[in-house]
Amino acid sequence: MARFANTPAWIFFRLKLETLNSPIVIALDGTSASGKSTNAKLVAQALGYVYVDTGAMYRTLAWHCLQKKVDIHDAKAVAALCRQWKTKLVCVEGEFRSARLLVDGYFPEKEIRTAQTSAAVPHVAAVPKVRDWMKKTQRDCVKFGNLVMEGRDIGTNVFPETDFKFYLDAHLDERTKRRASEGVDENLAARDQRDSQRKAAPLMIALGATVINNSQMSSAETSAVIIKEVRRKLAAGGG
Ligand code: C5P
Repeated sequence: MARFANTPAWIFFRLKLETLNSPIVIALDGTSASGKSTNAKLVAQALGYVYVDTGAMYRTLAWHCLQKKVDIHDAKAVAALCRQWKTKLVCVEGEFRSARLLVDGYFPEKEIRTAQTSAAVPHVAAVPKVRDWMKKTQRDCVKFGNLVMEGRDIGTNVFPETDFKFYLDAHLDERTKRRASEGVDENLAARDQRDSQRKAAPLMIALGATVINNSQMSSAETSAVIIKEVRRKLAAGGG
């Protein structure tokens, strides 16, 4: 038993035990502009779950660094800011409920979607202390109920014990077109590369995840596949 304690398998089984009777978490990971947000919102709305955009949390910290003139390449300075910033996790009602991070009582929305913030965020997201803080905050979201959480490491790192893991992807051309239609001109390949190659919780397909390449699919089709799979697993006693 002593030899088994604190091994990855032990941590996994402990987390698994804790999930009995705890809220259901649908983990939706994938590349940039693979449709995670659109589909996560559709699934949250259809099932009545709380939507959590973890990318928005990392973007919020990157934006806060830029505001406070903290060098995003200085991991110690970024970690120090993350330790001190005044945030509050809240659940907002709407078409679907969503968990949000307020900074000094303010919810930044447009500011975190600029090209400058997008370029800064993978640097901030690569800092291990930042990832620890984010993981704890993201796991705290279960206090709001069942979740649809989108990100890069939800199935691999934040909720590795969940039975509901999905990985979305689409061809780079298609993803670039999608971003361009939103008026954003961004080098998605460069961001994906940074996210996949960092040491701390890199973007990768979680073990047991359902992989969906939606290059040729509408969001209605993609979300229908996810909802069907979740319902199938729930009926089979998963969760
Ligand atoms: O999903 P979104 O494009 O808003 O994510 C912005 C960035 O935040 C990603 O490119 C990645 O660097 C970081 N991120 C992360 N882990 C997550 C979610 C986002 O590292 N779970």
